[in-house]
Amino acid sequence: MDTIAAISTAMGEAGIGIVRMSGKESLSIASNVFKGKTIENFKEAINRRLTYGYIYDPEDGTIVDEVLIVYMKKPHTYTREDIVEIYCHGGVIAVKKILEILLKNGARLAEPGEFTKRAFLNGRLDLSQAEAVIDLIKAKTDKSYSVSLNQLEGSLSIKVNEIRKILLNMLAHIEVSIDFPEEDVEEVTYDELLKDSQKVLEEIDKLLSTAERGKILREGLNTVILGKPNVGKSSLLNAILRENRAIVTDIPGTTRDIIEEYVNIEGIPLKIIDTAGIRDTEDLVEKLGVDRAKNVVEKADLIIAVFDASRSLTKEDEDIINIVKEKRSIVLLNKTDLPNEYDVEELSNYIPDKKIISTSIANGEGIEELEKTIVDMFYSGEVELSGEAIVTNMRHTDMLNRARKNIIDVISGIEMNVPLDCIEVDVKNCWNHLGEISGETVSEDILDKIFSEFCIGK
Ligand code: GDP
Repeated sequence: MDTIAAISTAMGEAGIGIVRMSGKESLSIASNVFKGKTIENFKEAINRRLTYGYIYDPEDGTIVDEVLIVYMKKPHTYTREDIVEIYCHGGVIAVKKILEILLKNGARLAEPGEFTKRAFLNGRLDLSQAEAVIDLIKAKTDKSYSVSLNQLEGSLSIKVNEIRKILLNMLAHIEVSIDFPEEDVEEVTYDELLKDSQKVLEEIDKLLSTAERGKILREGLNTVILGKPNVGKSSLLNAILRENRAIVTDIPGTTRDIIEEYVNIEGIPLKIIDTAGIRDTEDLVEKLGVDRAKNVVEKADLIIAVFDASRSLTKEDEDIINIVKEKRSIVLLNKTDLPNEYDVEELSNYIPDKKIISTSIANGEGIEELEKTIVDMFYSGEVELSGEAIVTNMRHTDMLNRARKNIIDVISGIEMNVPLDCIEVDVKNCWNHLGEISGETVSEDILDKIFSEFCIGK
């Protein structure tokens, strides 16, 4: 594999920047462009010891920056290859110049995620762990961070491998029965297979039951605030933003080149969708018939619908009530400080099974209850996340669903006394689908897709 290089720190004004190189030429490229204060030839660098000196352009001898540099000898490195890291001045120019010089001297610009991809290909991480690295970088709250960290430590891989072990055992049993087809062996086999399959199904279901929470932790709870003009939506948004740290993330280099805003509500990243649209909600409500607005509502995990108690219900309110009935939503009856046209009880006639909170957003009343309701909804009585495996990734959920279908086919095959070699096919498929989570049975284009979501330099 060729030697790759990239800027590993974010571009912008900063104290230091890091340029990283991985591959067998790392040391020799570095020694061509580095002059140490104490080491004449960087090829003599001591493994993992920082060296002070200058990066220069060997072509004309000009000095580019004053740096610290370290050589990390394989295999005990992130990529399992030789790595050189250069700690230079921050800002945009120094890192760029140093990168250019490395490229001019034989390194190739790394693709997004290529360092981590090498770590995976060289067996340092399995695929779900590599994916956890992206999630760690992109984590929005402490909780999503700690779930990713668990996954990086292998919590998901361990669970998936346990299930695959049962499947492997089943395959071995089937082989034996096919090779020695005496009547009684076969019967025992069917019994054992059924027991094992049920255990596999149970374990897959356990993992899948965490998937919704996992997705929200990873991607945020897509939230839309709906209400006719002047009910208090902007005031609500501001109140939420004021009380909770807003996290703005910028996702460069992906197809979704947009700024996303998250609010951290007790560890739950609330992603307020299309804030611009919401600030301009007359639009949104009017255009509810229009596809784009419909999409926004459809994509939402949570609708917060705001009604104004000081004005009677209108046709626009009815439209919103109809949406609220269909979706997971929390209803706010706002402006309860003003003389009221109707109350919670009346509103609940239209939406009997939704929680209605009476608020006076202008006075900060009811916001806390709203937040508590969101948190309760999210955890819905479940215990705090700890070291358990949580499925946060759509790809993993997809594979688990496929494996689930396979094992259900196995179970019904056994119940119908289908020949063992037919059952074997489904067991194998189940085993393979689970293997895609850890990357043991994954195809090249899926790998490319996964790593392309990384930032460059990781
Ligand atoms: P939006 O059009 O839905 O975004 O509504 P705004 O948040 O802009 O609020 C419209 C008006 O209602 C503003 O003048 C707010 O100050 C006011 N308002 C919002 N919430 C309350 C409330 O709970 N009580 C009262 N009395 N006024 C409120």
